[in-house]
Amino acid sequence: MLDLRPNCECCNKDLPPESLDARICSFECTFCVACAEGPLAGKCPNCGGELVRRPRRPSGKLVSAPASTERIVRLGGCATMEPSLPAHD
Ligand SMILES: [Zn+2]
Ligand SMILES: [Zn+2]
Repeated sequence: MLDLRPNCECCNKDLPPESLDARICSFECTFCVACAEGPLAGKCPNCGGELVRRPRRPSGKLVSAPASTERIVRLGGCATMEPSLPAHD
């Protein structure tokens, strides 16, 4: 079952299960859209895989299959990454 993690690993932004702003890789590393499409350029900084929009779990299913509550944050956020692309702004 997909781990619906509660926050962005880069900036610690809240990403509730119903959020359309959550992006995940195949290992369920979880990021917000601003980090995924900004500094990460669509690539997971942990495994190098693609980041895609996390599907939302229907709220009725969250009762029997609740979202993860374990917050994972990268040490130093994503600022420690080698910049792969020039900043957009
Ligand atoms: Zn973020
Ligand atoms: Zn990953």
